[in-house]
Amino acid sequence: MKTRSTKIRIVKDRYSRARGGRSKLIRILCKRCKAEVLTYQKDGPGWLKRCYLNRIVWPQKLARLQRNRRVREPGDMDALRCESCKAVIGIPTRHKDARLAYAIVPGSFIRRDATSSKD
Ligand SMILES: [Zn+2]
Repeated sequence: MKTRSTKIRIVKDRYSRARGGRSKLIRILCKRCKAEVLTYQKDGPGWLKRCYLNRIVWPQKLARLQRNRRVREPGDMDALRCESCKAVIGIPTRHKDARLAYAIVPGSFIRRDATSSKD
């Protein structure tokens, strides 16, 4: 029997617990060209307004930003763009809880469920 192992793990921390502990992975696709932009751990219910850097699980290039010490301010980040057609999907911002994030441009993306957390 073949099993496909995945390195993607749901992160449990104070941020996800603050949102009720229910997290799931979603995929963000570019609305214009349907290319995959990122995979994201969404904590709690509701519409997606921003993507926190510490919740981006794919691609590596974006997931690594949270550990990049040179990225301290929204001005240190590039706009989040579709790699394929270069459409702008997100604008660098800082949330009120001090986490860096991309504010998602309404209507620029398609949201798909990836997997749900089991516990
Ligand atoms: Zn695109």
